[in-house]
Amino acid sequence: MRPVIGITCSLTVSAIGDSIYTLERNIIALDYVRAIEYAGGTPLLIPHVGDIECINQYLGVLDGLILSGGGDIDPLLFGQEPHQNIGSVDCVRDEMELRLTQKALDQDLPILAICRGIQMLNVAAGGTIYQDIASEMPPPTLCHSQQGAGWYTSHTIDILSESRLLQIVGSPTARVNSFHHQAVREVGEGFIVTAKAKDNVIEAIESPTHRFALGIQYHPEMMWERHPEVLNLFTTFLKACR
Ligand code: MN
Repeated sequence: MRPVIGITCSLTVSAIGDSIYTLERNIIALDYVRAIEYAGGTPLLIPHVGDIECINQYLGVLDGLILSGGGDIDPLLFGQEPHQNIGSVDCVRDEMELRLTQKALDQDLPILAICRGIQMLNVAAGGTIYQDIASEMPPPTLCHSQQGAGWYTSHTIDILSESRLLQIVGSPTARVNSFHHQAVREVGEGFIVTAKAKDNVIEAIESPTHRFALGIQYHPEMMWERHPEVLNLFTTFLKACR
């Protein structure tokens, strides 16, 4: 049986024609779906539900969870007021993912957290976030909002020895893509930093005590078709989900 992998979604809001009414949609880039399907899992999209019974029921069905990319996390969730450079915030998504992630950690459900996902994983574990790398971290910081194609690997990361990420990547340095203006600040309880960019921006965290709880700041789902070795991240995650 293929493991069932929940993938959280983003929200888009658009006008209906010229009317004052808007249409809300939960969407997800198909890159996540294709990566999980190709690596041997069955993707299941998780919409933004508010009822805790729905969240519990999803957790009962899932063999693993992907926290996907998206907008910024409400800074009030980690005890900060909003920085002037904060981007779009979706507090409904935040609340749903926070409850889902905390329960998944409690139940030791495997989690692969991507981009915004690493930040949500860190906040769920009690950590904090740089709301805007360029204005909150000591300069000079690198460009973490690349303009190139999604598969283009624009900066280097250094990976901690004896980490799960090193086992997966197989090399102490790697090149990754970068589409974020925020990053992990203080690491959540039980997690360790396992990769950094050359400007000290945290690019990966993991829990040594969970079956699989790994967050990465880059987007492997956009990389694996051009960089086949990146698929190992998804296949290793799926092995932990069986
Ligand atoms: Mn980066």
